[in-house]
Amino acid sequence: MSSERQAGPSPGLLLVLSAPSGAGKTTLAHRFRARHPDAIFSVSATTRAPRGEERDGVDYHFVTAARFGELVAAGELAEWAEVHGQRYGTLRRTVEEALRSGRIALFDIDVQGGALIKAGWPSETATVFVLTPGPAELERRLRGRSIDGDEAIRRRLAAAHAEVARGLASYDYVIVNDELEPTLARLDAIAAYERGRRGGGSSPEAARVAEGCRRGVARMGDWAV
Ligand code: 5GP
Repeated sequence: MSSERQAGPSPGLLLVLSAPSGAGKTTLAHRFRARHPDAIFSVSATTRAPRGEERDGVDYHFVTAARFGELVAAGELAEWAEVHGQRYGTLRRTVEEALRSGRIALFDIDVQGGALIKAGWPSETATVFVLTPGPAELERRLRGRSIDGDEAIRRRLAAAHAEVARGLASYDYVIVNDELEPTLARLDAIAAYERGRRGGGSSPEAARVAEGCRRGVARMGDWAV
């Protein structure tokens, strides 16, 4: 991994979005993408099977365990992690393309992956952790959408709490996803501010909103610190 800045007017921004499952991160990522047509949406490789409408090459690159192993061995993944018993990894070429072209790349990955991207490219990466308004709301959303039994829900909840603890301890920004539009506006401000800091500048309003979302400053709903 390299943390060297690339030549050119803007070095690009690696924008990492993580959240416990049930916090609405995927919707947020898709809406962000619609508002930033120039942004690169990182398509990860995964060993898990497609769900519902998911398409290969669009939502994920669905690969076998053997192929995933080859990608790891060939150094083609910028980071990878095991999540819920399946392997997920970010293609190194996505990171390189963002840095080369000076664009934003958005990564919808877990906290292990976010920490690795940050460690590999510290000055190009901004990490954003998305919370539900509180733990009760997270449980309600997980139960509401789950076809799993109680035991599986308990496991997911425990994993979600561990994810939150790591995010709140290490991510650059924290946003509470209470309503979609204001949450998107905060994410937009963070992206504008972070890009501006790397060249070109950003509006004072974006700086104000983004600084208000910094970990340690941001409001955190009902989550205990
Ligand atoms: P799902 O199977 O629900 O799509 O994703 C499960 C978890 O894996 C989510 O937290 C998602 O953000 C995370 N994830 C997806 N792609 C990657 C990746 O490339 N690297 C890492 N570390 N996590 C990922």
